[in-house]
Amino acid sequence: MARLVAGIDLGGTKIATGLVDETGRVLERAVHPTRPEEGPAAVIARMIGSLEEVCGRRGLDLAALEAVAVACPGPLDPLRGVVVEAPNLRWREVDVVEPIREATGVPVYLENDANAAALGEWWAGAGQGTRHLIYVTVSTGIGGGIVIDGRIYGGAHWAAGEIGHTVAVVEDGPLCGCGRRGCLEAMASGTAIARRAVEALQAAGWREGDVPGESDARPGRR
Ligand SMILES: [Zn+2]
Repeated sequence: MARLVAGIDLGGTKIATGLVDETGRVLERAVHPTRPEEGPAAVIARMIGSLEEVCGRRGLDLAALEAVAVACPGPLDPLRGVVVEAPNLRWREVDVVEPIREATGVPVYLENDANAAALGEWWAGAGQGTRHLIYVTVSTGIGGGIVIDGRIYGGAHWAAGEIGHTVAVVEDGPLCGCGRRGCLEAMASGTAIARRAVEALQAAGWREGDVPGESDARPGRR
């Protein structure tokens, strides 16, 4: 019988779970809302429920899995299986591995979501056939992961590749969520790009409610 693993991507808004075979093929998927306001125990119960759902569709018990991998926003400690601090989840020092190990009886691994994505791209995506790669994710923030010789490079604090708070504008850059100025994330994340677009439009005389392109207030009009 095929060896199957389950992967759970835990985000601030959704829990995405996949049942995957050893070639990387996704056999089953399930998506559930995270609802972090209900607290870690409720979120972890939903994660376990999503595992039961994807296994159940194939008539499998959780014990039929080889392992479960959990990808989660960091910082986290994969060796202890603990999410150290995840603002989007409102989690601090949450042991996510042990309850899932108890429910399934199989090994459970925790990894930073950007690192897991980097390894996924190396194994089955854009980085196939390469030895080393750097993966950059641009969404609400900017994150990244480094794969060297087919292994995630964690660095001293498992935060290697987290390039979002590298200072890109040394003098008088925009304020970043981390409290410093000029971080890459404050310049080029999805959030920052949208903010800078609004600033450019406003500088050109655009007001909230105007439809760009239909009014005469276009950037560069002056
Ligand atoms: Zn920053």
